[in-house]
Amino acid sequence: MTRDEILTAFDRIRVWQQGDRRAVHKPLLVLLALGRLLRGESPLVEFAGIEDKLGKLLEEFGPSGSERTRHNPFWHLRTDGVWRLEGPPEITSRPAGATPTITELRRGRVEGGFAEPVRLALAHDPALVAEIARRILNAHFPESIRQDVAAAVGLSPDADNPAAPEQEQRRRDPAFREKVLLAYEYRCCVCGHDLRMGGHAIGLEAAHIKWFQARGPDVVQNGLALCSLHHKIFDLGAFTVLPENHQIVFSRHLMGGDDTKAKLLAHHGAGLIQPQGKECLPHPEFLAWHRAEVFREPARE
Ligand SMILES: [Zn+2]
Repeated sequence: MTRDEILTAFDRIRVWQQGDRRAVHKPLLVLLALGRLLRGESPLVEFAGIEDKLGKLLEEFGPSGSERTRHNPFWHLRTDGVWRLEGPPEITSRPAGATPTITELRRGRVEGGFAEPVRLALAHDPALVAEIARRILNAHFPESIRQDVAAAVGLSPDADNPAAPEQEQRRRDPAFREKVLLAYEYRCCVCGHDLRMGGHAIGLEAAHIKWFQARGPDVVQNGLALCSLHHKIFDLGAFTVLPENHQIVFSRHLMGGDDTKAKLLAHHGAGLIQPQGKECLPHPEFLAWHRAEVFREPARE
């Protein structure tokens, strides 16, 4: 396969089939497999040998509960033409829709890996591997956590090279950041952080509530002004904002020592620092998306 054919095949992997639900299963499996390939690990891996790692990635970077369906990408990626499966024919010859159970994949010792033409093309072209990884990261994860995802799958942190052209077809509104920061008077709407130097805000970012990667629009009602730390943990699902009263709710998965708790978890149950003007308030639809697709359930009491 040529370089272009390979890139097209990976770009076409079908993942957004249920509206705006986040389906990061396939992207995470592909990234994991790219990392294995770069490290020269065996071309095929048994499901049982990869499911723990994949489950942990889904737990960390996927919607709540998605680790329970960790076998889906291992099975379904084959229909995208970049993946192959080896194992007992009574399992591997099933139609695509007849997904085996986790137990069947384990017991049948089913193995998966990149299809041979793909593997051959990638094996001698680390730059192509990096380009595929970069595209997948850009298409499915917000900038704040791309480096974390890359590191977790064992890819080099420069897989996301900001100088490279964006493959996203939608254009970003360059005014989004300014509009959001202005709405919240240049301070983090959780902790009030408003450090400045020479008139410039430091460590303050405009976060998308519904991710750009999930077709979240660049409008103030889909934005929150957050300090770097709150932005990152918001994108990781450590807290969310309730649509009905804009109360900040932390996940039970977030923990730390007394000091950290006193600083971070002190905001649990507090209200969002309000924007100037009711028209700037976060839209309930976007907050509901964040709760369903990003927040790590369950919430703290
Ligand atoms: Zn903050």
